[in-house]
Amino acid sequence: MFENQVAIVTGASRGIGAEIAKELSAQGAMVIVNYQGSRERAEQVVDEIKEAHGNAVAMQCDVSDFSATEQWIKDVHKEYGRIDILVNNAGITRDGLLMAMKEADFDAVLSTNLKGCFNTVRFVSRIMMKQRFGRIINMSSVSGVAGNAGQANYSASKAGVIGFTKASAKELASRGITVNAIAPGFIDTEMTEVLSDEVKQQAVTQIPVGRFGETADIAKAVAFLASKEASYITGQVLHVDGGMCM
Ligand code: NAP
Repeated sequence: MFENQVAIVTGASRGIGAEIAKELSAQGAMVIVNYQGSRERAEQVVDEIKEAHGNAVAMQCDVSDFSATEQWIKDVHKEYGRIDILVNNAGITRDGLLMAMKEADFDAVLSTNLKGCFNTVRFVSRIMMKQRFGRIINMSSVSGVAGNAGQANYSASKAGVIGFTKASAKELASRGITVNAIAPGFIDTEMTEVLSDEVKQQAVTQIPVGRFGETADIAKAVAFLASKEASYITGQVLHVDGGMCM
């Protein structure tokens, strides 16, 4: 489906991002597997893609850094000639109750989760506009839709991603570029592994489907929004959460 297309997946060294990279490459895209610090794990994702006869390369960039992101996107464009799909998946948590939250923990989460989306879209959109084609998918969360106690920073960043998605969708629609967000519920990754069994059991009671989601549930949704068939869908937030937030 994505033959001759170049896709960037930020934060693809593990978890949801790694699965998205594998799915897009399995469907024919050349995938840039971005990471911040986990080089070996990103290389491992690339190896797995190549073993499955896909095409991928690992590239380091801290997406919260504006000028580093500018240089990285320039490098990708110079090397591969186009950028068709951008998946803003990189994200972090620094949970804590609001009254005790450190300023640095608020800033770090906003910088990666929200400003990271701005930084990549800021430079990729120019390339996509010239191509008159592009697919941008930003990772939000149910926490951004409904809010979550203990995650004021994370919820604010993910709600910000939704506003950013809608504004970008309006700016870029006339050039054949769609911008959508996905709001995952609880997905089985290292991010949720740290939760206690009690918290996990409590969470499952809030999920009508009765289980945590798998990374593939998100990757398949991303692949659909990235497809040419999804050209009339823009500015939307697709909830992939087992019915948790409706
Ligand atoms: P994860 O397992 O913790 O992986 C996070 C990824 O982001 C890693 O590859 C990490 O790479 C990368 N990353 C972090 N900071 C970065 C930066 N500044 N620049 C570039 N890459 C960076 O997380 P996940 O569970 O797969 O979640 C992926 C996305 O889905 C996140 O945006 C998250 O908020 C969202 N989400 C997750 C869930 C869930 O239940 N898991 C639910 C809703 C939304 P390095 O190790 O190299 O830093």
